[in-house]
Amino acid sequence: MAQYILTIIYLIASVTFIVGLKMLSNPAAARKGNLLAAAGMSMAILGTIFLYKDETGAYLHNYAWIFGGLLIGGIVGTLAAKKVQMTAMPEMVSLFNGMGGACAALISMVEFNHLVSEPLESIHHSKVLIIVLGLLIGSVSFAGSMIAWGKLNGRVKDKSFAGQNIINIMVLALAVLLGIYLTLQPQHALLMYVIFFLSIVYGILFVLPIGGADMPVVISLLNSFTGVAAACGGFLYDNKVMLTGGILVGAAGTLLTILMCKAMNRSLKNVLIGSFGGQTTASASGATSQGSYKEISLSDTAMVMSYANKVMIVPGYGLAVAQAQHTCHELEKILTEKGVEVKYAIHPVAGRMPGHMNVLLAEADVNYEKLMEMEQANDEFATTDVVLILGANDVVNPAAKTDPASPIYGMPILDVELAKTVIVNKRSMKPGYAGIENELFFKPKTSMLFGDAKKVLQDLCAEIKNS
Ligand code: NDP
Repeated sequence: MAQYILTIIYLIASVTFIVGLKMLSNPAAARKGNLLAAAGMSMAILGTIFLYKDETGAYLHNYAWIFGGLLIGGIVGTLAAKKVQMTAMPEMVSLFNGMGGACAALISMVEFNHLVSEPLESIHHSKVLIIVLGLLIGSVSFAGSMIAWGKLNGRVKDKSFAGQNIINIMVLALAVLLGIYLTLQPQHALLMYVIFFLSIVYGILFVLPIGGADMPVVISLLNSFTGVAAACGGFLYDNKVMLTGGILVGAAGTLLTILMCKAMNRSLKNVLIGSFGGQTTASASGATSQGSYKEISLSDTAMVMSYANKVMIVPGYGLAVAQAQHTCHELEKILTEKGVEVKYAIHPVAGRMPGHMNVLLAEADVNYEKLMEMEQANDEFATTDVVLILGANDVVNPAAKTDPASPIYGMPILDVELAKTVIVNKRSMKPGYAGIENELFFKPKTSMLFGDAKKVLQDLCAEIKNS
Protein backbone atom coordinates (compact mmCIF):
# COMPACT_ATOMS: atom_id res chain seq x y z
CA MET A 1 0.00 0.00 0.00
CA ALA A 2 2.77 2.43 1.02
CA GLN A 3 4.43 1.88 -2.39
CA TYR A 4 1.22 2.83 -4.24
CA ILE A 5 0.82 6.00 -2.20
CA LEU A 6 4.49 6.83 -2.87
CA THR A 7 4.00 6.33 -6.62
CA ILE A 8 1.01 8.68 -6.57
CA ILE A 9 3.02 11.24 -4.59
CA TYR A 10 5.84 11.01 -7.17
CA LEU A 11 3.33 11.47 -9.97
CA ILE A 12 1.82 14.56 -8.32
CA ALA A 13 5.31 15.94 -7.61
CA SER A 14 6.35 15.43 -11.26
CA VAL A 15 3.25 17.31 -12.40
CA THR A 16 4.04 20.20 -10.02
CA PHE A 17 7.57 20.41 -11.52
CA ILE A 18 6.21 20.64 -15.05
CA VAL A 19 3.43 23.11 -14.20
CA GLY A 20 5.82 25.13 -11.98
CA LEU A 21 8.36 25.35 -14.79
CA LYS A 22 5.69 26.51 -17.20
CA MET A 23 4.58 29.19 -14.72
CA LEU A 24 8.16 30.49 -14.52
CA SER A 25 7.87 31.75 -18.09
CA ASN A 26 5.44 34.48 -16.99
CA PRO A 27 6.68 37.08 -14.47
CA ALA A 28 3.24 37.37 -12.85
CA ALA A 29 3.05 33.63 -12.16
CA ALA A 30 6.77 32.89 -11.61
CA ARG A 31 6.75 33.19 -7.81
CA LYS A 32 3.74 30.88 -7.50
CA GLY A 33 5.31 28.42 -9.97
CA ASN A 34 8.44 28.29 -7.86
CA LEU A 35 6.42 27.65 -4.69
CA LEU A 36 4.33 24.99 -6.41
CA ALA A 37 7.39 23.06 -7.60
CA ALA A 38 9.01 23.45 -4.15
CA ALA A 39 5.85 22.05 -2.53
CA GLY A 40 5.98 19.10 -4.96
CA MET A 41 9.63 18.50 -4.11
CA SER A 42 8.87 18.63 -0.35
CA MET A 43 6.10 16.05 -0.86
CA ALA A 44 8.47 13.79 -2.80
CA ILE A 45 11.19 14.09 -0.14
CA LEU A 46 8.83 13.43 2.79
CA GLY A 47 7.13 10.60 0.88
CA THR A 48 10.50 8.96 0.26
CA ILE A 49 11.59 9.35 3.88
CA PHE A 50 8.44 7.80 5.36
CA LEU A 51 7.05 5.49 2.67
CA TYR A 52 10.03 4.13 0.75
CA LYS A 53 10.82 0.42 1.29
CA ASP A 54 14.02 -1.28 0.12
CA GLU A 55 14.22 -4.72 -1.56
CA THR A 56 14.01 -6.41 1.87
CA GLY A 57 10.76 -4.55 2.60
CA ALA A 58 12.33 -2.37 5.32
CA TYR A 59 11.52 1.35 5.71
CA LEU A 60 14.28 3.93 6.08
CA HIS A 61 15.45 4.06 9.68
CA ASN A 62 18.38 6.52 9.93
CA TYR A 63 16.09 9.47 10.69
CA ALA A 64 18.58 11.31 12.89
CA TRP A 65 21.02 11.59 9.95
CA ILE A 66 18.29 12.46 7.46
CA PHE A 67 16.61 15.16 9.54
CA GLY A 68 19.97 16.44 10.84
CA GLY A 69 21.09 16.96 7.24
CA LEU A 70 17.75 18.47 6.23
CA LEU A 71 17.84 20.89 9.14
CA ILE A 72 21.42 22.07 8.59
CA GLY A 73 20.98 22.34 4.81
CA GLY A 74 17.61 24.06 5.21
CA ILE A 75 18.96 26.67 7.63
CA VAL A 76 22.12 27.39 5.60
CA GLY A 77 20.14 27.58 2.32
CA THR A 78 17.43 29.85 3.74
CA LEU A 79 19.89 32.26 5.35
CA ALA A 80 22.08 32.39 2.23
CA ALA A 81 19.09 33.00 -0.06
CA LYS A 82 17.72 35.76 2.19
CA LYS A 83 21.09 37.51 2.45
CA VAL A 84 22.16 37.34 -1.19
CA GLN A 85 22.35 40.55 -3.22
CA MET A 86 20.58 40.52 -6.58
CA THR A 87 23.91 40.99 -8.41
CA ALA A 88 25.39 37.98 -6.58
CA MET A 89 22.56 35.69 -7.71
CA PRO A 90 24.53 33.93 -10.51
CA GLU A 91 27.23 33.22 -7.89
CA MET A 92 24.70 31.59 -5.59
CA VAL A 93 23.09 29.59 -8.39
CA SER A 94 26.55 28.32 -9.27
CA LEU A 95 27.28 27.27 -5.69
CA PHE A 96 23.94 25.47 -5.31
CA ASN A 97 24.38 23.84 -8.70
CA GLY A 98 27.83 22.62 -7.65
CA MET A 99 26.25 21.01 -4.58
CA GLY A 100 23.80 19.17 -6.85
CA GLY A 101 26.69 17.87 -8.96
CA ALA A 102 28.57 16.78 -5.82
CA CYS A 103 25.45 14.92 -4.60
CA ALA A 104 25.16 13.05 -7.88
CA ALA A 105 28.87 12.11 -7.77
CA LEU A 106 28.62 10.94 -4.13
CA ILE A 107 25.51 8.87 -4.88
CA SER A 108 27.43 7.17 -7.69
CA MET A 109 30.36 6.39 -5.41
CA VAL A 110 28.19 4.98 -2.62
CA GLU A 111 26.14 2.89 -5.03
CA PHE A 112 29.21 1.60 -6.83
CA ASN A 113 30.65 0.36 -3.54
CA HIS A 114 27.31 -1.36 -2.76
CA LEU A 115 27.28 -2.92 -6.21
CA VAL A 116 30.79 -4.33 -6.15
CA SER A 117 30.16 -5.91 -2.75
CA GLU A 118 27.77 -8.29 -4.61
CA PRO A 119 29.01 -11.35 -6.55
CA LEU A 120 30.59 -10.27 -9.85
CA GLU A 121 28.23 -12.37 -12.03
CA SER A 122 25.16 -10.62 -10.60
CA ILE A 123 26.38 -7.10 -11.51
CA HIS A 124 24.51 -5.56 -14.45
CA HIS A 125 26.79 -3.60 -16.78
CA SER A 126 23.97 -1.14 -17.51
CA LYS A 127 23.83 -0.25 -13.81
CA VAL A 128 27.59 0.36 -13.72
CA LEU A 129 27.27 2.53 -16.83
CA ILE A 130 24.64 4.72 -15.15
CA ILE A 131 26.83 4.98 -12.04
CA VAL A 132 29.89 5.95 -14.09
CA LEU A 133 27.87 8.55 -16.05
CA GLY A 134 26.50 10.07 -12.83
CA LEU A 135 30.01 10.18 -11.36
CA LEU A 136 31.61 11.73 -14.43
CA ILE A 137 28.96 14.35 -15.17
CA GLY A 138 28.31 15.17 -11.50
CA SER A 139 32.02 15.65 -10.74
CA VAL A 140 32.58 17.87 -13.80
CA SER A 141 29.55 19.92 -12.80
CA PHE A 142 30.74 20.21 -9.19
CA ALA A 143 34.32 21.25 -10.02
CA GLY A 144 33.24 23.56 -12.87
CA SER A 145 30.58 25.25 -10.72
CA MET A 146 33.06 25.85 -7.91
CA ILE A 147 35.49 27.53 -10.33
CA ALA A 148 32.61 29.58 -11.81
CA TRP A 149 31.59 30.61 -8.29
CA GLY A 150 35.20 31.63 -7.51
CA LYS A 151 35.44 33.64 -10.73
CA LEU A 152 32.20 35.49 -10.11
CA ASN A 153 33.25 36.59 -6.64
CA GLY A 154 36.76 37.45 -7.82
CA ARG A 155 38.60 34.73 -5.89
CA VAL A 156 39.65 32.88 -9.07
CA LYS A 157 41.21 34.66 -12.04
CA ASP A 158 40.93 33.60 -15.73
CA LYS A 159 43.84 31.29 -16.51
CA SER A 160 44.86 29.71 -19.78
CA PHE A 161 48.05 28.15 -21.10
CA ALA A 162 49.27 26.94 -24.47
CA GLY A 163 47.64 23.70 -25.58
CA GLN A 164 44.99 23.88 -22.87
CA ASN A 165 42.17 22.73 -25.15
CA ILE A 166 44.18 19.66 -26.25
CA ILE A 167 44.98 18.77 -22.62
CA ASN A 168 41.32 19.24 -21.66
CA ILE A 169 40.19 16.88 -24.41
CA MET A 170 42.83 14.32 -23.41
CA VAL A 171 41.79 14.38 -19.74
CA LEU A 172 38.12 13.98 -20.71
CA ALA A 173 38.90 11.21 -23.21
CA LEU A 174 40.91 9.31 -20.58
CA ALA A 175 38.07 9.62 -18.03
CA VAL A 176 35.55 8.37 -20.63
CA LEU A 177 37.77 5.45 -21.72
CA LEU A 178 38.35 4.39 -18.12
CA GLY A 179 34.59 4.70 -17.55
CA ILE A 180 33.91 2.31 -20.45
CA TYR A 181 36.55 -0.10 -19.12
CA LEU A 182 35.09 0.01 -15.61
CA THR A 183 31.61 -0.64 -17.01
CA LEU A 184 32.89 -3.80 -18.66
CA GLN A 185 35.24 -4.84 -15.81
CA PRO A 186 33.61 -3.55 -12.60
CA GLN A 187 35.94 -5.60 -10.41
CA HIS A 188 38.64 -2.90 -10.86
CA ALA A 189 36.92 -0.81 -8.23
CA LEU A 190 39.81 1.59 -7.66
CA LEU A 191 39.33 2.95 -11.16
CA MET A 192 36.24 4.73 -9.89
CA TYR A 193 38.45 7.06 -7.83
CA VAL A 194 40.70 7.67 -10.84
CA ILE A 195 37.63 8.62 -12.92
CA PHE A 196 36.44 10.90 -10.12
CA PHE A 197 39.86 12.59 -9.97
CA LEU A 198 40.08 13.04 -13.77
CA SER A 199 36.53 14.44 -13.92
CA ILE A 200 37.34 16.97 -11.22
CA VAL A 201 40.51 18.00 -13.09
CA TYR A 202 38.51 18.29 -16.33
CA GLY A 203 35.81 20.40 -14.63
CA ILE A 204 38.48 22.82 -13.35
CA LEU A 205 40.42 23.02 -16.63
CA PHE A 206 37.23 23.41 -18.65
CA VAL A 207 35.98 26.48 -16.78
CA LEU A 208 39.31 28.10 -15.82
CA PRO A 209 40.11 29.77 -19.19
CA ILE A 210 36.55 30.97 -19.93
CA GLY A 211 36.20 34.75 -19.66
CA GLY A 212 34.79 35.66 -16.22
CA ALA A 213 32.03 37.66 -17.87
CA ASP A 214 30.80 34.56 -19.72
CA MET A 215 30.14 32.72 -16.47
CA PRO A 216 26.30 32.99 -16.57
CA VAL A 217 26.25 30.98 -19.82
CA VAL A 218 28.68 28.42 -18.39
CA ILE A 219 26.63 28.13 -15.20
CA SER A 220 23.52 27.44 -17.23
CA LEU A 221 25.42 24.72 -19.13
CA LEU A 222 26.74 23.20 -15.89
CA ASN A 223 23.21 23.35 -14.52
CA SER A 224 22.06 21.13 -17.38
CA PHE A 225 24.95 18.73 -16.57
CA THR A 226 23.74 18.48 -12.96
CA GLY A 227 20.23 17.73 -14.21
CA VAL A 228 21.54 14.85 -16.35
CA ALA A 229 23.64 13.56 -13.43
CA ALA A 230 20.54 13.64 -11.18
CA ALA A 231 18.54 11.82 -13.87
CA CYS A 232 21.22 9.08 -13.77
CA GLY A 233 20.43 8.78 -10.04
CA GLY A 234 16.75 8.43 -10.99
CA PHE A 235 17.57 5.50 -13.31
CA LEU A 236 19.77 3.96 -10.64
CA TYR A 237 17.11 3.97 -7.94
CA ASP A 238 14.25 3.49 -10.38
CA ASN A 239 12.91 6.70 -8.85
CA LYS A 240 10.51 8.40 -11.27
CA VAL A 241 10.44 11.81 -9.60
CA MET A 242 14.24 12.04 -9.50
CA LEU A 243 14.30 11.08 -13.16
CA THR A 244 11.64 13.65 -14.13
CA GLY A 245 13.29 16.40 -12.05
CA GLY A 246 16.73 15.63 -13.48
CA ILE A 247 15.50 15.55 -17.07
CA LEU A 248 13.60 18.83 -16.61
CA VAL A 249 16.69 20.54 -15.17
CA GLY A 250 18.86 19.06 -17.92
CA ALA A 251 16.49 20.16 -20.69
CA ALA A 252 15.77 23.60 -19.20
CA GLY A 253 19.49 24.26 -18.64
CA THR A 254 20.32 23.27 -22.22
CA LEU A 255 17.53 25.45 -23.66
CA LEU A 256 18.57 28.39 -21.49
CA THR A 257 22.18 28.04 -22.64
CA ILE A 258 21.07 28.04 -26.28
CA LEU A 259 18.74 31.02 -25.74
CA MET A 260 21.42 33.07 -23.97
CA CYS A 261 23.92 32.38 -26.77
CA LYS A 262 21.28 33.26 -29.37
CA ALA A 263 20.31 36.51 -27.63
CA MET A 264 24.00 37.52 -27.53
CA ASN A 265 24.45 36.27 -31.11
CA ARG A 266 27.37 34.08 -30.07
CA SER A 267 27.96 30.38 -30.56
CA LEU A 268 28.46 28.13 -27.54
CA LYS A 269 31.92 27.32 -28.95
CA ASN A 270 32.76 31.02 -28.95
CA VAL A 271 31.62 31.32 -25.33
CA LEU A 272 33.61 28.25 -24.27
CA ILE A 273 36.88 28.94 -26.05
CA GLY A 274 36.74 32.58 -27.12
CA SER A 275 37.78 34.92 -24.29
CA PHE A 276 35.19 37.70 -24.40
CA GLY A 277 34.77 40.93 -22.46
CA GLY A 278 36.84 42.45 -19.69
CA GLN A 279 39.33 44.32 -21.87
CA THR A 280 38.88 48.10 -21.60
CA THR A 281 39.06 50.04 -24.83
CA ALA A 282 37.69 53.39 -23.71
CA SER A 283 39.21 55.91 -21.35
CA ALA A 284 37.52 56.69 -18.06
CA SER A 285 36.66 60.27 -18.95
CA GLY A 286 36.87 63.02 -21.55
CA ALA A 287 37.12 62.57 -25.28
CA THR A 288 37.65 59.05 -26.59
CA SER A 289 38.49 57.54 -29.95
CA GLN A 290 34.89 58.17 -31.10
CA GLY A 291 35.08 61.94 -30.53
CA SER A 292 33.44 63.96 -27.79
CA TYR A 293 30.20 63.55 -25.95
CA LYS A 294 27.88 66.04 -24.32
CA GLU A 295 26.73 66.07 -20.72
CA ILE A 296 23.37 67.08 -19.30
CA SER A 297 22.74 68.50 -15.85
CA LEU A 298 20.33 67.03 -13.36
CA SER A 299 17.98 70.02 -13.52
CA ASP A 300 17.88 69.91 -17.33
CA THR A 301 17.15 66.17 -17.20
CA ALA A 302 14.35 66.81 -14.71
CA MET A 303 12.86 69.45 -16.97
CA VAL A 304 13.10 67.41 -20.19
CA MET A 305 11.45 64.45 -18.49
CA SER A 306 8.71 66.44 -16.77
CA TYR A 307 7.62 67.98 -20.06
CA ALA A 308 7.74 64.73 -22.04
CA ASN A 309 4.60 62.89 -23.13
CA LYS A 310 6.25 59.53 -23.16
CA VAL A 311 9.39 58.29 -21.38
CA MET A 312 10.97 54.89 -21.91
CA ILE A 313 13.36 53.65 -19.21
CA VAL A 314 16.06 51.19 -20.33
CA PRO A 315 17.43 49.33 -17.29
CA GLY A 316 20.78 47.53 -17.48
CA TYR A 317 23.38 45.84 -15.35
CA GLY A 318 24.38 49.16 -13.68
CA LEU A 319 20.87 49.57 -12.23
CA ALA A 320 21.29 46.22 -10.49
CA VAL A 321 24.78 47.14 -9.28
CA ALA A 322 23.46 50.42 -7.83
CA GLN A 323 20.42 48.63 -6.35
CA ALA A 324 18.41 51.56 -7.64
CA GLN A 325 15.28 49.63 -8.67
CA HIS A 326 13.11 51.11 -5.89
CA THR A 327 14.21 54.67 -6.67
CA CYS A 328 13.59 53.96 -10.34
CA HIS A 329 10.01 52.91 -9.53
CA GLU A 330 9.68 56.08 -7.44
CA LEU A 331 10.71 58.17 -10.47
CA GLU A 332 8.16 56.32 -12.60
CA LYS A 333 5.39 57.14 -10.10
CA ILE A 334 6.37 60.82 -9.85
CA LEU A 335 6.42 61.19 -13.63
CA THR A 336 3.12 59.33 -14.01
CA GLU A 337 1.51 61.71 -11.47
CA LYS A 338 2.66 64.55 -13.69
CA GLY A 339 0.84 62.96 -16.62
CA VAL A 340 3.89 61.44 -18.35
CA GLU A 341 3.46 57.96 -19.82
CA VAL A 342 6.33 55.82 -18.51
CA LYS A 343 7.31 52.36 -19.78
CA TYR A 344 10.35 50.11 -19.47
CA ALA A 345 12.24 48.58 -22.42
CA ILE A 346 13.61 45.18 -21.42
CA HIS A 347 16.40 43.60 -23.45
CA PRO A 348 16.54 39.78 -23.07
CA VAL A 349 20.19 39.79 -21.93
CA ALA A 350 20.30 43.08 -20.04
CA GLY A 351 22.06 42.44 -16.73
CA ARG A 352 23.93 39.25 -16.02
CA MET A 353 21.33 36.51 -16.10
CA PRO A 354 18.21 35.81 -18.11
CA GLY A 355 15.25 37.74 -16.77
CA HIS A 356 17.58 39.80 -14.52
CA MET A 357 15.76 43.08 -15.19
CA ASN A 358 12.30 41.51 -14.81
CA VAL A 359 13.27 40.12 -11.41
CA LEU A 360 14.93 43.37 -10.37
CA LEU A 361 11.92 45.51 -11.27
CA ALA A 362 9.47 42.98 -9.82
CA GLU A 363 11.36 43.34 -6.52
CA ALA A 364 10.45 47.04 -6.61
CA ASP A 365 6.78 46.19 -7.42
CA VAL A 366 6.90 47.70 -10.90
CA ASN A 367 3.74 46.73 -12.79
CA TYR A 368 4.52 43.93 -15.30
CA GLU A 369 2.30 45.60 -17.85
CA LYS A 370 4.75 48.48 -18.07
CA LEU A 371 7.57 46.15 -19.13
CA MET A 372 7.99 46.07 -22.92
CA GLU A 373 9.88 43.20 -24.50
CA MET A 374 12.56 44.20 -27.01
CA GLU A 375 10.49 43.89 -30.20
CA GLN A 376 7.56 45.72 -28.62
CA ALA A 377 9.84 48.47 -27.28
CA ASN A 378 11.55 48.89 -30.65
CA ASP A 379 8.13 49.57 -32.18
CA GLU A 380 7.48 52.28 -29.59
CA PHE A 381 10.77 54.23 -29.59
CA ALA A 382 9.74 56.32 -32.60
CA THR A 383 6.86 57.77 -30.56
CA THR A 384 8.98 58.25 -27.40
CA ASP A 385 10.17 61.68 -26.30
CA VAL A 386 12.85 60.68 -23.82
CA VAL A 387 14.75 57.43 -23.39
CA LEU A 388 16.46 57.23 -19.99
CA ILE A 389 19.18 54.58 -20.03
CA LEU A 390 20.06 53.44 -16.51
CA GLY A 391 23.32 51.49 -16.33
CA ALA A 392 22.82 49.76 -19.68
CA ASN A 393 25.50 49.77 -22.33
CA ASP A 394 25.95 46.80 -24.70
CA VAL A 395 22.21 46.28 -25.14
CA VAL A 396 21.92 49.76 -26.72
CA ASN A 397 25.19 49.71 -28.68
CA PRO A 398 24.48 50.41 -32.40
CA ALA A 399 27.78 48.67 -33.32
CA ALA A 400 25.77 45.44 -33.06
CA LYS A 401 24.02 46.55 -36.26
CA THR A 402 26.62 48.67 -38.00
CA ASP A 403 30.09 47.25 -37.31
CA PRO A 404 30.76 43.71 -38.62
CA ALA A 405 34.11 43.74 -36.79
CA SER A 406 32.45 44.30 -33.41
CA PRO A 407 32.30 41.30 -31.03
CA ILE A 408 28.60 42.03 -30.52
CA TYR A 409 27.80 42.34 -34.24
CA GLY A 410 24.46 40.64 -34.95
CA MET A 411 23.17 40.85 -31.36
CA PRO A 412 19.66 42.37 -31.46
CA ILE A 413 19.64 45.69 -29.61
CA LEU A 414 17.15 48.27 -28.36
CA ASP A 415 16.79 50.93 -31.08
CA VAL A 416 16.84 53.85 -28.62
CA GLU A 417 18.12 56.21 -31.32
CA LEU A 418 14.62 56.30 -32.80
CA ALA A 419 13.44 58.39 -29.83
CA LYS A 420 13.66 62.19 -29.79
CA THR A 421 16.15 62.42 -26.89
CA VAL A 422 18.44 59.87 -25.29
CA ILE A 423 19.83 60.38 -21.77
CA VAL A 424 22.44 57.89 -20.56
CA ASN A 425 23.16 57.46 -16.87
CA LYS A 426 26.38 55.67 -15.94
CA ARG A 427 29.38 56.56 -13.81
CA SER A 428 32.02 57.06 -16.51
CA MET A 429 32.81 56.37 -20.17
CA LYS A 430 34.03 52.88 -19.28
CA PRO A 431 32.65 50.05 -21.42
CA GLY A 432 30.27 47.34 -20.26
CA TYR A 433 30.44 43.56 -20.42
CA ALA A 434 31.73 43.29 -24.01
CA GLY A 435 34.58 45.69 -23.28
CA ILE A 436 33.85 47.91 -26.28
CA GLU A 437 33.11 51.57 -26.81
CA ASN A 438 29.53 52.63 -27.49
CA GLU A 439 29.03 55.06 -30.40
CA LEU A 440 25.55 55.88 -29.07
CA PHE A 441 27.18 58.03 -26.38
CA PHE A 442 28.67 60.29 -29.08
CA LYS A 443 25.50 60.81 -31.14
CA PRO A 444 23.96 64.32 -31.34
CA LYS A 445 20.71 63.09 -29.74
CA THR A 446 22.51 61.59 -26.74
CA SER A 447 23.44 63.31 -23.48
CA MET A 448 25.42 61.74 -20.65
CA LEU A 449 24.21 62.06 -17.05
CA PHE A 450 27.13 60.80 -14.99
CA GLY A 451 26.86 59.35 -11.49
CA ASP A 452 25.82 56.31 -9.52
CA ALA A 453 22.31 55.32 -10.69
CA LYS A 454 20.81 55.37 -7.20
CA LYS A 455 22.18 58.80 -6.28
CA VAL A 456 21.23 60.26 -9.67
CA LEU A 457 17.70 58.85 -9.46
CA GLN A 458 17.23 60.11 -5.89
CA ASP A 459 18.33 63.61 -6.93
CA LEU A 460 16.18 63.44 -10.05
CA CYS A 461 13.09 62.49 -8.03
CA ALA A 462 13.70 65.40 -5.63
CA GLU A 463 14.27 67.82 -8.53
CA ILE A 464 11.10 66.78 -10.42
CA LYS A 465 8.99 66.87 -7.24
CA ASN A 466 10.15 70.43 -6.52
CA SER A 467 9.73 71.66 -10.09
P1 NDP B 1 26.71 46.28 -19.63
O1 NDP B 1 27.53 45.36 -18.82
O2 NDP B 1 26.95 46.34 -21.08
O3 NDP B 1 26.89 47.77 -19.08
C1 NDP B 1 26.59 48.09 -17.77
C2 NDP B 1 26.97 49.54 -17.56
O4 NDP B 1 26.51 49.90 -16.26
C3 NDP B 1 28.46 49.77 -17.57
O5 NDP B 1 28.88 50.37 -18.75
C4 NDP B 1 28.72 50.63 -16.32
O6 NDP B 1 29.37 51.83 -16.70
C5 NDP B 1 27.32 50.93 -15.78
N1 NDP B 1 27.28 50.90 -14.32
C6 NDP B 1 27.88 50.04 -13.48
N2 NDP B 1 27.61 50.35 -12.22
C7 NDP B 1 26.80 51.45 -12.24
C8 NDP B 1 26.19 52.25 -11.24
N3 NDP B 1 26.37 52.00 -9.94
N4 NDP B 1 25.44 53.28 -11.63
C9 NDP B 1 25.28 53.57 -12.95
N5 NDP B 1 25.84 52.85 -13.94
C10 NDP B 1 26.60 51.80 -13.59
O7 NDP B 1 25.19 45.96 -19.28
P2 NDP B 1 23.91 45.69 -20.20
O8 NDP B 1 22.84 45.36 -19.24
O9 NDP B 1 23.72 46.79 -21.19
O10 NDP B 1 24.32 44.42 -21.05
C11 NDP B 1 24.44 43.15 -20.49
C12 NDP B 1 25.64 42.46 -21.07
O11 NDP B 1 25.84 41.25 -20.34
C13 NDP B 1 25.46 42.10 -22.53
O12 NDP B 1 26.67 42.22 -23.23
C14 NDP B 1 25.06 40.64 -22.45
O13 NDP B 1 25.41 39.93 -23.62
C15 NDP B 1 25.90 40.17 -21.25
N6 NDP B 1 25.38 38.98 -20.61
C16 NDP B 1 24.09 38.88 -20.22
C17 NDP B 1 23.59 37.72 -19.69
C18 NDP B 1 22.15 37.61 -19.33
O14 NDP B 1 21.65 36.47 -19.28
N7 NDP B 1 21.48 38.71 -19.04
C19 NDP B 1 24.45 36.56 -19.47
C20 NDP B 1 25.83 36.80 -19.82
C21 NDP B 1 26.23 37.95 -20.36
P3 NDP B 1 30.24 52.66 -15.64
O15 NDP B 1 31.27 51.72 -15.12
O16 NDP B 1 30.80 53.78 -16.44
O17 NDP B 1 29.30 53.13 -14.58
